[in-house]
Amino acid sequence: MAKKTAKTTKKGTKQAKGPKGKPAVKRAATAARAVKAAKKPVKAAVKAVKKAAAKYVYGFADGKAEGNRTMKDVLGGKGSGLAEMTNAGLPVPPGFTISTAACNLWYAEGRKLPQSIEDEMMAHVRRLEKAAGATFGSTDNPLLVSVRSGAKFSMPGMMDTILNLGLNDAAVEGLKARTQNGRFAYDSYRRFMQMFGNVVLEIPKEKFEHEFEAVKHAHGAKVDTDLGEDGMRETVSRYKRLVQRETGKPFPQDPVQQLTMARDAVFRSWNNERAITYRRIYEIPDHIGTAVNVQLMVFGNTGDRSGTGVGFTRNPATGANEFFGEFLVNAQGEDVVAGIRTPRPITELAEVMPKAYKQLREFTSRLERHYKDIQDFEFTIENEQLYMLQTRSGKRTGYAAVVIATDLVQEGLLTPNEALLLVEPASLSQLLAPMFNPADWKKVPVATKGLPASPGAASGQVVFSAEQAVAWAAEGKKVVLVRKETAPDDIHGMEVAQGVLTATGGMTSHAAVVGRQMGRPSVVGAGALRIDEQAKTFSVAGQTVKEGDYISFDGLTGEVKFGKVATSPSEILQVLAGKMKPAESPIYRRFSTLLGWADQVRTLGIRANADQPDQSELAYAFGARGIGLCRTEHMFFGEGRIEKIQRMILADNEKDRRQALAGLLPLQRGDFYGVFKAMHGEPVTIRTIDPPLHEFLPKREELMVEIAKLEATGGDQKVLAEKRTLLHRVEQLHEFNPMLGHRGVRLGITYPEITEMQARAIFEAACQLAKEGLKVTPEVMIPLVGLVKELRDQKIIVDRVAAEVMKETGVKIQYLVGTMIEVPRGALTADEIASEAQFFSFGTNDLTQMTFGFSRDDIGKFLASYQERKILDRDPFQSIDTVGVGQLVAMAVEKGRKTRPTIKLGVCGEHGGDPSSIHFFHKVGLNYVSCSPYRVPVARLAAAHAALSVKVGD
Ligand code: ADP
Ligand code: MG
Ligand code: MG
Repeated sequence: MAKKTAKTTKKGTKQAKGPKGKPAVKRAATAARAVKAAKKPVKAAVKAVKKAAAKYVYGFADGKAEGNRTMKDVLGGKGSGLAEMTNAGLPVPPGFTISTAACNLWYAEGRKLPQSIEDEMMAHVRRLEKAAGATFGSTDNPLLVSVRSGAKFSMPGMMDTILNLGLNDAAVEGLKARTQNGRFAYDSYRRFMQMFGNVVLEIPKEKFEHEFEAVKHAHGAKVDTDLGEDGMRETVSRYKRLVQRETGKPFPQDPVQQLTMARDAVFRSWNNERAITYRRIYEIPDHIGTAVNVQLMVFGNTGDRSGTGVGFTRNPATGANEFFGEFLVNAQGEDVVAGIRTPRPITELAEVMPKAYKQLREFTSRLERHYKDIQDFEFTIENEQLYMLQTRSGKRTGYAAVVIATDLVQEGLLTPNEALLLVEPASLSQLLAPMFNPADWKKVPVATKGLPASPGAASGQVVFSAEQAVAWAAEGKKVVLVRKETAPDDIHGMEVAQGVLTATGGMTSHAAVVGRQMGRPSVVGAGALRIDEQAKTFSVAGQTVKEGDYISFDGLTGEVKFGKVATSPSEILQVLAGKMKPAESPIYRRFSTLLGWADQVRTLGIRANADQPDQSELAYAFGARGIGLCRTEHMFFGEGRIEKIQRMILADNEKDRRQALAGLLPLQRGDFYGVFKAMHGEPVTIRTIDPPLHEFLPKREELMVEIAKLEATGGDQKVLAEKRTLLHRVEQLHEFNPMLGHRGVRLGITYPEITEMQARAIFEAACQLAKEGLKVTPEVMIPLVGLVKELRDQKIIVDRVAAEVMKETGVKIQYLVGTMIEVPRGALTADEIASEAQFFSFGTNDLTQMTFGFSRDDIGKFLASYQERKILDRDPFQSIDTVGVGQLVAMAVEKGRKTRPTIKLGVCGEHGGDPSSIHFFHKVGLNYVSCSPYRVPVARLAAAHAALSVKVGD
């Protein structure tokens, strides 16, 4: 936790203290460290591990594990969970975990492990054989294991598990002998060959399916379970021939060789395309590697006294405190999540196998209390005996996260600060997502119903593939992705869709899990849908829907309807807008309780970027305490205003220009009055005009067309003359590179009367409010300053006008004059600039643009290639580049404070609403961040996380 440091000294004037009197100077010192930490090279990490850790393999068996829950970095999430459950005395099949360090070493050494680690692994194999009383390749009791990947952060479906490893022509007979069940033994062998063949030997799945189908066909079998031992034996023979054909080698028979190959395939899968995509979306570092878990097999497919399932200790969609999950009788491994057979609700297990069910309830609630968080667990029952195979913190919707966090505090399991950490800041925006208007929604008949996998309203045009979703979304269309079932390859389509609808799969299928995590409304297992992905149609309820048609569905109820249904703002927005009472909305009350806790612990102030009074009111309602950026030019686009500003631009002498400006003055004053009032006395930073003037004039090409038309048709001569003047001015103002052109402070310097008018509007509005007895705190901000003399020039004008207005109105108000730091030279000379500036606001959009030399409008053309080649991990306009741009920020903070210890520091670029950037701003010691009104709740929580010193993703 961040220590609360003593308040700033008395000398620190009121304005210069942060909103909460924070330990700003101290934090500035950590800035350099933050920057350094961000560039820790992978090689050094590998080296360090190589030197320090002699241990690469960690066993777990019989109530004792060499690892525990704190070792996620080394063992991965799955490995650490298996170790922890073993230590807690839960029934976990024994096994061992090969560490993430081994994975990194494997890559570093050119895709092999040093002999010492191979030996270490073999020692664990021998130990496992002893613990299990079984031997690799044995013909009476063969050791069979699963080989499971598991990185620090869970990546569902990203890397493949291999089951039943250790089977070969001899061992399968051993398995048959031990279980007296030939069908089971050969079914296990064929499953193993298929998984191994696909994951390790990289033979396409379809080729195995094809062979299997042929056998089923020959035996007149409809489903797998219709096949007996003979059919399974035949399948195994066919698979062998397939492997020989595809690889030119027989299927490997030596279990140790099988194990080594499977382990290496897991290491390899760390860098498969799906895994890389997933890491990119969730900002998981590429260099941490995956662990490999090798574990004794237990069998859920030995008959109808066996089964397998997955579940959650609470409802992951709504957060409700109810046992939740699914299972299948006589099934193994991924059958439940694969969406092939539709699983049964877990509560039915109570009837099917009451003893195992009771144990499961008991173990999982113990796990929940132990981890103090909702658990997502996997289990298998072999002949009525329950085994726990996995536990981890459950992924949940933003909605559920808020419900669970507030419940766990209520239940006395967590403190408010601990509960805050259970909610991902970005996920709060899900609670602000639209929903259907209940009245409109009711009017449309239900076409079909599926499982309500992830809440939220989705309405859009149907697409049947992820590629199409991406293509149409890029054109600005709202799409919903309709699939039989989704696979990890679909993730990029899910990312851009309004929602996802599938025909098969349960509440824990891929579409459901990923949909919840992304906050994408999802309805799954809508079994009545007959989807023809080839023809791009689906039919249900006697109607056929084609690609491009509209459908709507509700992820909270599972209802699917034809056509477009309008969506409306979330309950929370409605309460904030005064359309609903807080008492009527439990989720609003939880939301505001949680954010109240966040406000208690955060030290960063939160402001909003808002230009209009109504936006400011919304921002205030969301909890912003101050405006960090009011862009005055946005006001110029309002009705009846653009003509006035054009007149000002067209003026070719100061007198005419002043006259035009006089017409703008009352309008600006009115806006400022409204914004000040909406902020209830909190500081409001108003930026003087920033964009190049030609942005307010019509486009050159358009004007030329209009003039040509008028000339050709002999139009009104007066209009023609006006257009020609306009065109002439447009041509005068034309710039080759407007973003580096005549804008920002440069405008104020060449046209001081603009600054003058804006300052007058600000102070007249402020004095008016002060007269009415209301508090106002204006902060006048000069943009794009790179030279201290630029700022001095403008400050003289602002101070003069302020004095004039105060004299005229007879009221005195406190105000500040400061600057944006957004030009690299401004950051480099922040010490000089601070001699004039009472505050800095980092304009990180321009600062990023100018530091990289990337135009933010053109970066889209090459960013994807940069990310593909790992030249850049993230879009630096979304998440601040801590190493480069961040260094400039950190330096300017330090220099600014050296010259003026009381200087107020904030950020108003897009990064102000980005959780990981907020961490950085907290570390470098800013006083506040400012972001768009809708991001304010996210920023409040992210600032609390930063204060609690938690790294994003931990
Ligand atoms: P994922 O990370 O995709 O969830 P897992 O490694 O958890 O993959 O394996 C998937 C499934 O395989 C598990 O849920 C479980 O049903 C089955 N499984 C894994 N190991 C074993 C084992 N030792 N015995 C029985 N089933 C296993
Ligand atoms: Mg699993
Ligand atoms: Mg700027």
